Amino acid sequence: MPKYKHVTIPKDGKRITVKNKKLQIPNNPIIPVIEGDGIGPDIMKATRRVVDAAVEKAYKGKKKIVWMDVYAGEKANEIYHEWLPKETVDAIRHYVVALKGPLTTPIGGGFRSLNVTLRQTLNLYACIRPVSYFPGVGSPVTHPERLNVIIYRENTEDVYAGIEWKKGTKDAKKVINWLNKNMKTNIRSDSGVGIKPISVTGTKRLVRKAIKHAIDKKLPSVTLVHKGNIMKYTEGAFRDWGYQVAIKEFRNKIVTEQELWDKYKGKMPQGKILIKDRIADSIFQQVLTRPNEYSILATPNLNGDYLSDACAAQVGGLGMAPGANIGDYIGLFEATHGTAPKYANKDVINPTSLILSAVMMLEYMGWEKSAKIIEKAIELTIKKKTVTYDLERQMKGAKKVGTSQFATNIIKNMKS
Ligand code: NAP
Repeated sequence: MPKYKHVTIPKDGKRITVKNKKLQIPNNPIIPVIEGDGIGPDIMKATRRVVDAAVEKAYKGKKKIVWMDVYAGEKANEIYHEWLPKETVDAIRHYVVALKGPLTTPIGGGFRSLNVTLRQTLNLYACIRPVSYFPGVGSPVTHPERLNVIIYRENTEDVYAGIEWKKGTKDAKKVINWLNKNMKTNIRSDSGVGIKPISVTGTKRLVRKAIKHAIDKKLPSVTLVHKGNIMKYTEGAFRDWGYQVAIKEFRNKIVTEQELWDKYKGKMPQGKILIKDRIADSIFQQVLTRPNEYSILATPNLNGDYLSDACAAQVGGLGMAPGANIGDYIGLFEATHGTAPKYANKDVINPTSLILSAVMMLEYMGWEKSAKIIEKAIELTIKKKTVTYDLERQMKGAKKVGTSQFATNIIKNMKS
């Protein structure tokens, strides 16, 4: 049993472990939870209530999540006088599956971002963001129900690697001088400089996970999204390495778009997954104009960040956008949005994004029955038009309720 300074390990729970490359889930798993800053406490409270109620409804006391508070962000700074204590990272690693609220990144705290640091330290290389539509939610597009995608965003490299130098500093000058002299570049001396590494390792493990997901869930396609026409050796390489994984490791399960036309006259053979690629700017219009042609979208880090918010906007906004950061085994589940500080502690914000992140967590644990109960209850709650402000302003005839009331309504609408 690990020893922590400020984390109390619950006595009535057990640790999730990994055996023979599979998660072993006890009936009373200890799940570390970072409450989060800003709106974090409001949405986390709501989420825990909804999850506990659904698990109880599904398993009648035979299964139960045992939550364990761990700290990051403002709360950690109060308790530990540091923003991301080592024991928080250790606890997530040890207990394997965790739930997280949004975190403010301290200005001048020595971190680029707590979230990025957590993902990189725990090697959570795939950021998975499903985007689908709940009937009744207002949307800026005519057919929001046609969008049903899962974004697999690389989470550890690209311009998010944090390798950059501020304009005018000694280091920036050194880098610029070296490049101009040795690599025959022509970078202006008044530039800030950043580096964009994209590796075979980072790309292949991400695309591998995306294709495995498509196989497991019988999804029709995986699209590699890149800006390889311009950034040939980073984004273009992402596309090439993506196809390499598909062809080398999943040969009898996939067909590339090229093969579809060359060998199959454009008619998809049954039971196969189509592997295709699209340039980043093109995919932004395609998800609007031909959304039902896309299923899993595998992207480098920055493209995925932009694309997931753009897709979320089509199905009701950031309040409806869940996410997960997953490595080989560890899963840290969190909403796509941030701390929305202007709504902090007002009990008004939409908790659905975090609740749906918890749904992803339950699915990851194999507790599908409870996950389904929550999804169905959210659907019904939205159908009854009692929703938080963000949905109410987009829905005709809806009644506005606060965060906690919305959670209560979801619980009331649960059916086993
Ligand atoms: P944000 O917190 O995501 O909020 C931007 C806007 O999105 C809100 O004002 C609100 O729009 C809408 N929104 C966000 N969450 C919502 C929800 N649950 N329900 C309904 N609407 C929601 O972005 P930000 O204000 O740019 O960032 C604030 C802080 O969060 C920053 O410190 C940033 O670094 C941090 N951040 C953290 C994470 C993370 O922890 N993973 C991610 C992103 C940002 P309306 O005002 O139009 O209603």
